Amino acid sequence: MQFIDLKAQQARIREAVESNIRRVLDHGSYIMGPEIRELEGRLASYTGAKHAIGCSSGTDALILALMAMDIGPGDAVFTAPFTFVATAEVISLLGATPVFVDIDRTTYNIDPARLEEAIQALKSGHEKRRPLPSTSGLVTPKAVIPVDLFGLPADYDAINEIARKHDMAVIEDAAQSFGGTYKDRKACNLGDVGCTSFFPAKPLGAYGDGGMVFTNDDAINETLRSILVHGQGRDKYENVRIGMNGRLDTIQAAVLLAKFDVFPEEIELRQEAARRYNERLSASAPQLVLPSVPKGYTSAWAQYSVLARDTGHRSALQATLKEAGIPTAVYYPKPLHLQGAFSRLGYEQGDFPISEECATRIFSLPMHPYLKPEDQDRIAQTLQ
Ligand SMILES: *Cc1c(COP(=O)(O)O)cnc(C)c1O
Repeated sequence: MQFIDLKAQQARIREAVESNIRRVLDHGSYIMGPEIRELEGRLASYTGAKHAIGCSSGTDALILALMAMDIGPGDAVFTAPFTFVATAEVISLLGATPVFVDIDRTTYNIDPARLEEAIQALKSGHEKRRPLPSTSGLVTPKAVIPVDLFGLPADYDAINEIARKHDMAVIEDAAQSFGGTYKDRKACNLGDVGCTSFFPAKPLGAYGDGGMVFTNDDAINETLRSILVHGQGRDKYENVRIGMNGRLDTIQAAVLLAKFDVFPEEIELRQEAARRYNERLSASAPQLVLPSVPKGYTSAWAQYSVLARDTGHRSALQATLKEAGIPTAVYYPKPLHLQGAFSRLGYEQGDFPISEECATRIFSLPMHPYLKPEDQDRIAQTLQ
């Protein structure tokens, strides 16, 4: 059994992938070929965002977004500590300060009430208040990066309202949520800028690295497209700002076009797989906390993650599953505020108790569109 079965998907789309790649080999536009614009157009209309800008990875999508918002030294960017390292890494990389905010215990996403508190605490000044980074007196709230963890969008109505009140930008880390929805709006189109990843294991994965940035703002779109290609101006050899090489490869766009043809159906298949897990596990494994999707939300089900009672219980379940040939994974075993990479921020154990507790209890079961009901039965029986 595979944790994410990319082979089953490939068997289905192999011919289309091969003919799309052959088309690139024939026209030879390996950089910024016509497949890039075609993919950008199709994903823009899928998400409802006015602009979509292909780029080299989900991490670079976040860097492009922060750079387009002119975020750097002296700026505070709020995000959750319970996420993949890239979310906060890009903030530090640009010289800005990540300010962590604990998550909601049922959605695993940033808690809007705590976000408001953290912004107030930072604004109210220099006195040391936990949990704030040790440089808190020197930084101004500039942006928030909500993460749509495991494919489930964060609470954007609440987050956007808080951000507007404090004149902050909202950069959606939709690396895991492409295909998810929030109150009839698609993930990637829920803040000022949305960032997704085409890492092979993500809901819409390429056969290599790739990413995309989404926005409805014409000026941000122009800035993003300039930064994407070395800060270019009107022509290739005029450079108006410091940028990067952040382009998506034409061959990856060609692969993604073939994958996107089956993507909407795959999102439906993921809903069915999640429904089957919910049904079987609530009967056979009442000791687990199953994922909960609030009304009006759809998860892209990048992961199906459950909580065990504690670390010992989790280890025992993972070992039993492994023995039965069932792979599992832990996303994420260590919250970012406790990672050595962020030690400079001065956070301590106990600063974000919900993230810390989830890190000790959470694990993910196999999840992909081609997961067989029989396999899910066997997983449920083994957990029982
Ligand atoms: C995968 C991921 C990223 C980074 O995407 P890459 O394409 O691997 O650079 C960023 N944030 C989250 C939440 C992710 O899961």
